[in-house]
Amino acid sequence: MTGSDGVPRPMNACILFLPQLQGRAVRTVEGISGPDGSLHPVQDAMIRKHGAQCGFCTPGFITTMAAAHANGETDFDTALAGNLCRCTGYAPIIRAAEMAADTPVPQWMQENILSKVHASSEGIFCPKSADDLAQWYERNPQATLVAGGTDVGLWVTKHMRSPTPIAFLGQVPDLRHIEDHGDHLRIGAAATITELMQAIEPISTSFYKMLARYGSPQVRNAATIGGNIANGSPIGDGPPALIAMGATLILRQGSERRRMPLEDFFIAYQKQDRLPSEFLEAIELPKKQPYLRCYKLSKRFDQDISAVCGCLNISIKGGIITHARIAFGGMAGTPKRAQTAEAALIGQLWNSETFTKAQEAMSKDFTPLSDMRASASYRVQAAENMLMRYYHDIEHEPVDIRGIRA
Ligand SMILES: Cc1cc2nc3c(=O)[nH]c(=O)nc-3n(C[C@H](O)[C@H](O)[C@H](O)COP(=O)(O)OP(=O)(O)OC[C@H]3O[C@@H](n4cnc5c(N)ncnc54)[C@H](O)[C@@H]3O)c2cc1C
Repeated sequence: MTGSDGVPRPMNACILFLPQLQGRAVRTVEGISGPDGSLHPVQDAMIRKHGAQCGFCTPGFITTMAAAHANGETDFDTALAGNLCRCTGYAPIIRAAEMAADTPVPQWMQENILSKVHASSEGIFCPKSADDLAQWYERNPQATLVAGGTDVGLWVTKHMRSPTPIAFLGQVPDLRHIEDHGDHLRIGAAATITELMQAIEPISTSFYKMLARYGSPQVRNAATIGGNIANGSPIGDGPPALIAMGATLILRQGSERRRMPLEDFFIAYQKQDRLPSEFLEAIELPKKQPYLRCYKLSKRFDQDISAVCGCLNISIKGGIITHARIAFGGMAGTPKRAQTAEAALIGQLWNSETFTKAQEAMSKDFTPLSDMRASASYRVQAAENMLMRYYHDIEHEPVDIRGIRA
């Protein structure tokens, strides 16, 4: 799909709502080869490198590869992280992407971009500003807000729900802006994870790297940070990092706004501090984050939901710990701070003994559940280990399991 910035982006078609296509150019796998039947370079390379066996996943691979090819992307592990192959194996597919990389983008891939979809449907409101949305939502408090639809899409495809009326937030520029206010960023709630990554890269490499494991490019191109907070999921990756960074949430109902520390928004499992017709407008984020570290633990490295996500942000002065903000996902019914562990750290010497004591203290912070992602005891142990990992990380010892070699 290509937006007004002219950049083609791969998306998951199965969870896209019609209003999300408004003003975009859409290209499906049928439009990858030329009008005269000529193969696109990635199609040709897939044949030459034997990149397709059963063929089931091939259309998805081809569309993602064609988008990467058009954008000149060459990090194919990242570009293809959201496309799953279970028979060919990734090596021939990556070889095909590499083979096609130096071939020019075919002319037809640029020409067809001009066709635009104009979507409008009954029961769907597409506000053009946050003011529009605020007024409409006050009159329709029962409505469902749809931002990226990566959660709401599943309510439809998995639970057969029909969540109308809908307000679609994707065309509201003032909800998508990310503004630099000197010491902090103001991030519009409808900024996508891809847009957030661009803003976060200069602030925190660690958070940036974790966001690079958030779903896949297809998911990050649609999913918004506001949706990731508002859904109240205990295993979302955004909230623990934002809480550890000291983020403030700006909520809006009509013309009224209120602000709160992000952690206060999460009251209990599936219960947030949000009034009828109130929506998330923006997040304010302090920019100075030199000691933030984010650790995502999931069964699969790419395209997987966290079993435990730990984000730690600790300051030291004269060898003494002065501030600690530690937040976890996957350890309780909500994203939650480890306040007992924080208290055990503050005022203490920066050394591994202090962290061992904080690990013990943390047992009072969480009583996680066992589920398909991890058992309760595994979660507790993993979270304690993340605390010690942070100490070693800040001490510049190797802690990245993908970087450690025997
Ligand atoms: C394949 C796949 C992989 C995924 N991987 C990850 C992952 O690695 N990490 C992770 O954290 N999540 C992951 N998710 C979950 C999902 O992408 C996120 O929760 C996402 O950020 C939700 O944002 P959205 O814009 O798509 O929300 P939507 O689906 O549009 O909305 C979600 C909820 O938030 C509400 N909402 C949205 N915007 C606002 C607003 N501004 N104000 C008030 N309410 C609002 C909606 O009404 C709805 O209740 C994944 C999902 C899929 C399908």
